[in-house]
Amino acid sequence: MTGHTRTVTVPAQEGRAFGAAAGDLVEIVDVEGHQVGDLWVIDAADHGRWLSTSHTRDRLERMFPRPGEQFTDQFREPIAEFVADTSPGSHDMLFPPCNRWLYESEGLMDHPNCHDNFITSAASAGVVLPVVPDPVNIFQNSAPEPDGTLDVLTAASEAGDSVTLRILRDAVVVLTACSVDYWPTNNMKCTPLLARVGPA
Ligand SMILES: [Zn+2]
Repeated sequence: MTGHTRTVTVPAQEGRAFGAAAGDLVEIVDVEGHQVGDLWVIDAADHGRWLSTSHTRDRLERMFPRPGEQFTDQFREPIAEFVADTSPGSHDMLFPPCNRWLYESEGLMDHPNCHDNFITSAASAGVVLPVVPDPVNIFQNSAPEPDGTLDVLTAASEAGDSVTLRILRDAVVVLTACSVDYWPTNNMKCTPLLARVGPA
């Protein structure tokens, strides 16, 4: 990326929102390795339209896009394109963000979580939605097994691995560095993520 690229650091167990213009590339970097990032893309001109994981699966008839394929909103319109992936390629679009009720079921009260981090981060950018949409779970290593079992394994991404999307309309992007530290999802250690945003 060149030109007016901005870098957004998402500290461990936190979230950040940032704007992206139509055509911008957003590169999400796993800084230290084995760290999942939850990603949302919301139409800046109409907050009622956002990247929908279920509509994306439906349109592509796949669990997750391949580079060159597009993510769609709830109206089946493309909102982002999967451009590049330097990671081993495990990502998820089946799980909701981690949330307070998940942690409470593990006896962890007042635990940071991607659900609340989404709400706080989105609000900081003026986005308040009636629901928390299901995120794209970048680097999450939980591909379904042949019998349908969903087991969340440690993210296979190494330090410096990245995923790049092209944003197809002016958007608010929210990225959270997943807070799970009681399960191997993030290798039992939550670390930061970095986003580079700018023109191609
Ligand atoms: Zn999470």
